[in-house]
Amino acid sequence: MVWFRRDLRLDDNRAWAAATAAHNEVIALFVLEPRLMDAAGQIRRDQLLAHLDALHQDLKALGGGLVVRPGPATSAVPIAVADCEAAALYYNIDVTPFSIERDDAVAKALAVRVHGFNGLTVHEPGAVLTKKGTLSQVFAPFYKTWTATPLAPWPSPGPGRPVIMSGDAIPDPEGPIYQPPGESGAWQRVTAWLEHVDDYPDTRDLPAIPGTSELSADLKFGTLAARTVVDVVGTQTPGRAAFVRQVAWRDWWAHTLALRPDLPDVALKPQYNNIAWRDDPDGFRRWCAGLTGYPIVDAGMRQLLQTGWMHNRVRMICASFLVKDLLIDWRKGERFFRHHLVDADIAQNAGNWQWAAGTGPDAAPYFRVFNPTTQGQKFDPQGDYVRRWIPELSGLPTPAIHQPHNADPSKLASAEVILGQTYPAPVVDHAEARTRALQTYKRALT
Ligand SMILES: Cc1cc2nc3c(=O)[nH]c(=O)nc-3n(C[C@H](O)[C@H](O)[C@H](O)COP(=O)(O)OP(=O)(O)OC[C@H]3O[C@@H](n4cnc5c(N)ncnc54)[C@H](O)[C@@H]3O)c2cc1C
Repeated sequence: MVWFRRDLRLDDNRAWAAATAAHNEVIALFVLEPRLMDAAGQIRRDQLLAHLDALHQDLKALGGGLVVRPGPATSAVPIAVADCEAAALYYNIDVTPFSIERDDAVAKALAVRVHGFNGLTVHEPGAVLTKKGTLSQVFAPFYKTWTATPLAPWPSPGPGRPVIMSGDAIPDPEGPIYQPPGESGAWQRVTAWLEHVDDYPDTRDLPAIPGTSELSADLKFGTLAARTVVDVVGTQTPGRAAFVRQVAWRDWWAHTLALRPDLPDVALKPQYNNIAWRDDPDGFRRWCAGLTGYPIVDAGMRQLLQTGWMHNRVRMICASFLVKDLLIDWRKGERFFRHHLVDADIAQNAGNWQWAAGTGPDAAPYFRVFNPTTQGQKFDPQGDYVRRWIPELSGLPTPAIHQPHNADPSKLASAEVILGQTYPAPVVDHAEARTRALQTYKRALT
């Protein structure tokens, strides 16, 4: 039996390859884990259900199918193994504390052999170390060793054939699906991305255009292996190398979470645990809803709420705004993103939040505070991204689009913008908020 989790593919899947090489008949199982399903926003839940159906169709074409059972996995997997008298259980390992505890409990409950593989990252957590045998706390040396580590061979499925046993029907998604599902959807995206990847250094920071791969949800659900992406894209051009470097960041955070399961909960730089975060329910509510009065922040939060995805540059701006301008605990933002993101991944999300808050390894220095107005002007110079997500500002001329609060009243009037009514006035004054953040951080660090 192969227990699928975040590896919803048959290609470049070590657990699937090993099981089909060792056994004549293989059953594919997925467990709908209530805790994970409840924690996910609707867009991620629906995308998962669509991926499960696509995997089921792929297995059906081979004569089998996907068995879907209700969780929790700690009871559902042993029951499924017993029902079909499986000789062994295969899966690809995840690095979250929840999955490690769950997998230990499942293994303890089983009398059959359990085989775990790396299907999550390009290089297995623990395989990219310093000369001292530790994980580098700085990304650049990790990346150097990471690039020098040879890729494991591409695993091909063996002759074993998938067979079906009884399970529940896969529930129907409730809303529209974010991306065409399954491995075939993922490969369409890779193929399309290969046409643009060489431009990545010029396009990656511009949220108004499709200048990044949007492969993050495929890597989250495993409709594509990170190893495949790196292998297929290669590093022959500066654009390709820059893209692969980002996938290495993904590996680094996964390697970090494997060693530090408390990554989502505590500042990895301990003195940053002393920051006196503000309790500001109204500020938090406005940030969540995209109503801060800073257009680039609000556009990002609305993109997240409406699509489940947000551009990386804007994720950085929104995160900085929460932790620095509002001085609200990064963990609140991390949990909010984790719920809504279609690509939510604890290692990536917590790691990047710690980066934005300055609390993690190799983080942005705390005194570097993003100015939401100049960030907007620099990375959305025509205001197209803001106009797309904040239609009530769409009539503003470009010089005013990132700072309606500084616009000439006649410009506001002719664009039918009434500050405080059709669009909010800023929740904080950025210059004052910056000073407050620097003082608060300094106090914690001395
Ligand atoms: C506050 C914050 C929270 C984030 N939360 C998540 C999350 O939950 N899940 C997630 O996958 N990414 C997260 N990211 C990283 C990044 O924003 C997304 O991976 C990226 O926007 C996905 O879009 P893409 O696939 O088009 O990226 P591309 O630019 O095409 O990059 C290719 C791949 O590289 C990886 N990657 C790119 N940037 C990063 C990064 N900064 N850190 C780690 N991996 C990266 C991703 O797997 C991505 O799919 C977060 C970033 C920030 C600042």
